[in-house]
Formats: sequence, structure tokens, C-alpha cells
Amino acid sequence: MSALAHDFSSALSPQAARSQQALRIAVIGGGAASAIQVGELLRRHRGPLSIDWYAGCAEPGRGVAYGTAHAHHLLNVRAAAMGLFADDTGGFLNYLHTRGMDVAGSDFVPRQYYGDYLQHAVQELIANAASNAEVRVHHESALALDNNAHGDYTITDSLQIRRRTDAVVLALGVLAPRVLPGVSAIALDSGRYIVNAWESRPRTSAETIVVIGTGLTAIDTILTLSRRYPKARIIAISRHGHLPGVHLEKPSTTYSAAADLLAALKEKPSLRDWLRELRTHTRHAPDWRAVIDAVRPITQAQWQRFDLVERRRFLRHLRTYWEIVRHRVPPAIAEQLAVLQASGQLTIRAARVAAVEADRDQLRVEITPRGSNQRTAVHADLVFQGVGLDTDVRSAAHPLLEHLLQHGHASADPLGLGLHTSDDGRLRRSDGNDWPNIWLLGPLLRGSAWECTAIPEIRSGAIRIAGAALHAEQWLNKQDRVV
Ligand SMILES: Cc1cc2nc3c(=O)[nH]c(=O)nc-3n(C[C@H](O)[C@H](O)[C@H](O)COP(=O)(O)OP(=O)(O)OC[C@H]3O[C@@H](n4cnc5c(N)ncnc54)[C@H](O)[C@@H]3O)c2cc1C
Repeated sequence: MSALAHDFSSALSPQAARSQQALRIAVIGGGAASAIQVGELLRRHRGPLSIDWYAGCAEPGRGVAYGTAHAHHLLNVRAAAMGLFADDTGGFLNYLHTRGMDVAGSDFVPRQYYGDYLQHAVQELIANAASNAEVRVHHESALALDNNAHGDYTITDSLQIRRRTDAVVLALGVLAPRVLPGVSAIALDSGRYIVNAWESRPRTSAETIVVIGTGLTAIDTILTLSRRYPKARIIAISRHGHLPGVHLEKPSTTYSAAADLLAALKEKPSLRDWLRELRTHTRHAPDWRAVIDAVRPITQAQWQRFDLVERRRFLRHLRTYWEIVRHRVPPAIAEQLAVLQASGQLTIRAARVAAVEADRDQLRVEITPRGSNQRTAVHADLVFQGVGLDTDVRSAAHPLLEHLLQHGHASADPLGLGLHTSDDGRLRRSDGNDWPNIWLLGPLLRGSAWECTAIPEIRSGAIRIAGAALHAEQWLNKQDRVV
């Protein structure tokens, strides 16, 4: 935990006696999305409310992104836009200022500060909750979720404790990284192949390191490795060999023709039309970033208009390029990468990794360079898997997801983009019906919303869910319910 961190446990005592009249909402997940959801519920409820927060970890709120201990892992959104709530986007910046930090709103600050802020903000909300609300934080994971005859649900946690609830928010984040195809069992057993690039365990010395991937996860990994092994040669490999786009030092001005662009896109449902419009506008705009940012508010709605064929086409032909222009890195990160490349410490290669085999005291990474059909080999002391975030629930080793899928309580997106939901985020069962009171928030919404992983989309999703879940106060007949 960094210097800004707070003692989370001090805020966990219930604010109100648990009441049978209270609306019971379970929030499952231990990352930023669940923290924001708990916050929105506490801000918006009027009637008695009882929240069971299944965090599955000791420090709820940080999750994968904001649990990093490395100061060189920066936010890729400016500090002024990262407040916990949509009506207080400056909340994070204020928090930093009250801690005496000299930070401008346009700065990209370390992600660990954001984790500190998230925990602090939720801790405060819990401590200051109305007297008719309580939050019980369970550090266990939720393993099963089933519906009851009375219209409510039962959650079983990893201590086999069962609790009933009226509504559920699933904020499970991304899946744990899985080993890529082609990596041999011996390579894995050697300890030289690291599946989870976030692992910070120090390892043996290394002269050559391969990082598979050149996106945001890979960049975090490269920067950490370049500090840990300053003399090692790092080779980053991805099919296209492109690094993410770079933010401007100062925010780009709003795109002046945004209204025309959005109107044109709304009229044009096909991916091909979209691409044509975006190309035309980026050619004429002073800065391409402003065009990409202008489209963001309608990306979810547009994705929902694409049929399966269009979505598949997008994934095959455009996904990589969209990720590059949409998920940009701060200029300071781009500069560090440029320095590493100029010094020869970092090389980027465009190639497909075909296999990873153990080879004496090293690993042999067999690659097919882009544009070639000849395999060639790179020998490395360590190989880090830094590919994008995994949302393919179809073969995930995740007890709750397995339970939901096996019992038909949930269905998988056919393109491996998470779980099926309605357009407003209600979980879809395998029979095609949506649960009235189970919602999904965060990265597993990719199939339904595409744009769903960053804080702004999580914030608006949490507001929508809080509105719908708390609305249940009106129709739940608390007197009749069997508890
Ligand atoms: C490296 C990185 C950097 C990012 N940087 C930014 C940024 O600068 N700005 C921005 O806007 N967005 C950023 N994002 C995107 C976004 O903020 C994150 O994806 C967001 O934190 C997602 O939060 P989450 O809670 O959905 O998921 P996660 O952070 O993955 O957390 C989910 C948590 O739920 C737990 N969990 C899973 N199943 C269960 C269960 N059954 N019971 C209990 N707990 C469970 C998991 O163990 C995990 O701790 C970044 C993402 C990453 C990965």
C-alpha cells in the first residue's frame, strides 16, 4: 500500500441494524467497478438498504488496474476526469490536492494514487451512510448464485455461508490470464514463462526477455522489466508490432464538427460507413484524437446496432487499430519507450508467436514474422505474457461464472466478449430471458456494450444500475417476504 493509503477496515462497521424491511443488494467483485457501484447505491437510496459486498480480497476497490505498487504505472486518463462519480469528476484531483500534491488536472498520475482514492472515497461513504443503510464487506469470493421461489436470490460464498438478496450486481472484472496456445508444459514448468504479467515476484537475472504483446499490459510490463533488469534486452512481439497511440501533453480541444459527425454516424448503421466517416473526419480535423473522443458517447449504442456479422468483422479487421487510437498512453510513457528503443534495450517485432519451448536454460520462442511464412526463433531467459484483457468466459476457471453458465443462469457472448446481457446490462439467461434484478458492470459487458472498461463508462453504468435496483424498493413487498 502506498503512502496515501487508508485503513479500510475502520469503515466497515454496519451503520444500521439489519432490517427485514431493508432492500438487500449484493455487489460481487473487489475492483473499481464494485467500489463505484457501492458508492452510487449509498448516495442514491432513500429507503432502508442493506448491501453485502463480496470483495474476494483484502483491499476492496483497487482491483487489477489500481492495485499496482509501481509509481511508473500511470493512469491513461487525466487526473481531472477520474472522480468516482459522474457529477464529481474532479473528486480525484481534489483528493490529491487535499493531500498536498502539486498535480494539475491535465496530469497523468500513478495508478496507485487512484487505488488509494477509491478506497478512501468508499470508506468515507460507508462511514457517513444514512442511518437506514448498512454495508457488510465480505473478503470472501461468491461461488454460487441461485434464484429462490420467493423471487429473491441466494449467494454462497467461499466459506459456504449462504445469504439471501433481492438484487445482485456482478462486477467480476476481467478473467485471470490464461496461458497462450503453443506454450509447452515444460516451458511452463521451467518457471521462465510468466503467464500473469502483473506478477511482481523478483526472478533470476536475465539477459534477454521476450514480452508477448505491445498494448497497455505489455507496456506496463516492459517499463517494470527495464527497471528490474536494466542491462537486459527486451523484445516485445505482437502480430502488428504497433504501440498504442499517445495523448497530447495538454487535452485536445473538443472537435468542432462533432455534432455533424455524430449525426452522420447515427444515420449509418454499417461498419463500413462508420469507417468511411471516421476517416474523412480525421483527415480534416486538427487532431485525430478529438475525433475518436467525440465518438465515445455513442460507441455503446452503435455497437448494439451492429449484428453478429458486423461485430465479427470489427474484431477481425479493426479491433487492433481501434484499441491503438482509443486506448492511448501518456506522453511520459511514450518518451520512456522511445528512450528504451533508441538505446537498443527495447525492440518491437511484428510477428505471430507460434510456440514457446524449453531449450536448455532458456526458452525458445518460435515466431512467424508479419508478411512471412517462415518460422524463426528467439531465445530468451524469461518470457512474459502481456496480451490484452481476457473476457472469454466460455472456458474460464472461475467458480461463480462456471456455476452461472452450467445452471443456465447466464449465457456466454458467442465472440468471447463476456456474458450476454440486455442493452441495459441485465444478465441474460441461457433461455434468452433477462433476470429482472441481476446486472453486470465492467469488462464482461464487452459483448453487449463494447466500450465498458474505463471509469467513465463504469460510472454511468453504476448510476443506471443503482436507479433500477433501488426502484425495486417500490415493488418489493417486504411484509410478505419469507426471510
Ligand atoms: C492496467 C490497467 C490500467 C487501466 N487504466 C485505466 C485508466 O487510466 N483510466 C480508466 O478510466 N480506466 C483504466 N483501466 C480500465 C478500468 O478502470 C479497469 O478495467 C477497472 O478498474 C475495472 O474494474 P473492475 O472492478 O470491473 O475489475 P477488476 O479490477 O478486474 O476487479 C474485479 C475484482 O473482482 C474480484 N472477483 C472476481 N470474481 C469474484 C467473485 N466471485 N467474488 C468476489 N470477488 C470476485 C476479482 O478478484 C477482482 O479483484 C485500466 C485497466 C487496466 C487493466
